[in-house]
Amino acid sequence: MRGISEMYLRSGGTNYQHHCKECCNYGIIGKREDCSRHPEPRAWKGSYVACKYFDVPPEEIPGQMSIEQFPEYLP
Ligand code: SF4
Repeated sequence: MRGISEMYLRSGGTNYQHHCKECCNYGIIGKREDCSRHPEPRAWKGSYVACKYFDVPPEEIPGQMSIEQFPEYLP
């Protein structure tokens, strides 16, 4: 499955008014475009239609657990 298709699945759909290149989770690492919300490094395109996590920083996704909830595992 393509990385962007996974993101549509995980986030619950598209945010068709926007593209990935406008999102706070989009970036360029070296020469590779990247979505920091996707768990694995994948070739990304800023021209993709945005997913529902558009401009949502990782810590603000409802129901998502954070490492800060488990201080015993922090270094
Ligand atoms: S909209 Fe943002 S979070 Fe969603 S796939 Fe694009 S870059 Fe990633």
